[in-house]
Amino acid sequence: MGKINLLSSKIYNRIAAGEVVERPASVVKELIENSIDAGSKNITIEIQNGGISSIKIIDDGSGIERDDLRNAIMPHATSKISKIDDLYNIQTLGFRGEALSSIASVSKLSIASKPKEQEIGASIYTEGGDNAEICDDSIAKGTCIIVKNLFYNTPAREKFLRSAKTEENEISATIARFILGNSNIAFNYFADSKNILQSFGDGFESAFACVYGASVIKDCYYINAQKNGININGYVGKPHYSKPNKSYQIVFLNGRFVQNQTISSSIANAYAPYLMKRQYPFYVLNITMPSDSIDCNVHPNKIDVRFINNQIIYGALYSVLNKVLDGNRDALNIVVECNNQQSKSIKTLSEYVTHNNGDGAFRETFKFDTLVFNDSGIKKEEVVDDIFVQNKAYLQSLEQTPTNKYQQQSIKIEKDLKLVGQALNTFLILEDGTDLYLIDQHAAHERILFDKFMGQIDKRSVEVQPMLLPYVFSVTPEEAEFISSKSNTFEEIGLSINEFGVNTYKISSIPIFLQNVDFRIFISDLLSDLNALKSLTLTGLLKEKIAQKACKSAVKAGDKLSNENIEFLLGLLKGNLGLKCPHGRPVAVKISRMEIDKWFKRIV
Ligand code: ADP
Ligand code: MG
Repeated sequence: MGKINLLSSKIYNRIAAGEVVERPASVVKELIENSIDAGSKNITIEIQNGGISSIKIIDDGSGIERDDLRNAIMPHATSKISKIDDLYNIQTLGFRGEALSSIASVSKLSIASKPKEQEIGASIYTEGGDNAEICDDSIAKGTCIIVKNLFYNTPAREKFLRSAKTEENEISATIARFILGNSNIAFNYFADSKNILQSFGDGFESAFACVYGASVIKDCYYINAQKNGININGYVGKPHYSKPNKSYQIVFLNGRFVQNQTISSSIANAYAPYLMKRQYPFYVLNITMPSDSIDCNVHPNKIDVRFINNQIIYGALYSVLNKVLDGNRDALNIVVECNNQQSKSIKTLSEYVTHNNGDGAFRETFKFDTLVFNDSGIKKEEVVDDIFVQNKAYLQSLEQTPTNKYQQQSIKIEKDLKLVGQALNTFLILEDGTDLYLIDQHAAHERILFDKFMGQIDKRSVEVQPMLLPYVFSVTPEEAEFISSKSNTFEEIGLSINEFGVNTYKISSIPIFLQNVDFRIFISDLLSDLNALKSLTLTGLLKEKIAQKACKSAVKAGDKLSNENIEFLLGLLKGNLGLKCPHGRPVAVKISRMEIDKWFKRIV
């Protein structure tokens, strides 16, 4: 007799529950997704004891018809797809028809529901999926689902539950993500009767403030970009606002929360030059793209997706974030767009640098940048926090200068600058007879070196240094193919990598900016994400290394500089105070005479 059994639906459900219902937070996730799919505008979540004792979700969505209640808790029962083709164009969050049946099999589940058209509501109750009875119910329009005693009949799973507090935190994080990803829906969430989170369904900014607090907005750029047919919109942390872990990285793809390697590595690489080791970017991004270029049916939790073309999404994210963080020419085009608002800018700018908040302390004025991107450049809706916006000559020169990706735009000070001195061994103070300028000596030098190295790459005139001992390394055949295909590019940037046996290479000379680099790390960085790499130019990648080298070689904050050295540095700067260091910090800050007069109440 054969040994292969066809499993009963009861056993099958338990197996599926193992995948879908990992812990209370996964139940909350599945139920909220169902409420959203049902078109709800208000969703209330109440949990007891970390969701282990009880999870209750009330929505005002389309409801489940009385006759469908029994089907809803059957495996593979879904109203969302009916034919194979539907799988390739999924518009809802759920589609597997597994969640309710899985949850029913490992808990005591009740569903009460009333579609608008149905006169009286109905409910169904089941323990472990058995003996489902249907009764009348007085519920108003919508659905109320209560999940009690999760895993009461699966002790093995119950053992894996963590403390109620940990489970509660996981649920809170899940709900926060729903709030951010569904800002048109009002959520209200209670844990053990305490109101933990509440949103109002009145837009993304409000939802963001509800989750992170309104004060975080000023530490972020709001971006809205279209690139390669992909729309990228949301908050990204300014470089100073980094986080010690990756839990502040939230991405919604076509409304669905996803964790995807291509997306996260693209953003991480764009931020890499700006962040210290073990610091991670903060972001909440909504990405939308045609649903037929994504395959959602990859992961049982539907949390990962596959792209038909990884490079398109990688490239779009990388290039948009790179522009934002770099503050390069593209980002500064924004200022050109602001030209017609010049008078408004000046007013705001004089308020910007510092302002007296009444108790004698000077605080940075709240200023929030809204960047609007599109393929043809970047527009800025709000006034930028660049203190030089009012420099008309600069604005005009911007329009005339040819594009150079790595070159910052010049802001030339027309009048002669006179050195007042060095303060705190860190800042150079200059004046032009009218206004005062503070220059960050490290940022300035760093930028000069960075421009020099990048200039060498652009002009293909890299200073090369032979290595005393060649560095030899081995790679996989796929990596070998990549290196061989790029050998010309490596050569152009002064990196000579030659074959040295089967799948083995040696580096015998290096560009000067890679001096003192740990090659073991450099090579593994370089090859860490081959797919991603193929869509980038090598110079883009090397930029990070170059920025590091510039940073290391530049004078430091705290270095006492001789007058000779200061003059030398200022000579290199050529009066160009509009630069930002490669990490995006400004090189110079202008304090207007008017501002200073205000501090001393000479004018009001
Ligand atoms: P799926 O969401 O993959 O279709 P589920 O097991 O999560 O499968 O749900 C089964 C079906 O029950 C759904 O297709 C939907 O028709 C119905 N349903 C579940 N929850 C709700 C709800 N809150 N409001 C309306 N219908 C619901
Ligand atoms: Mg579902």
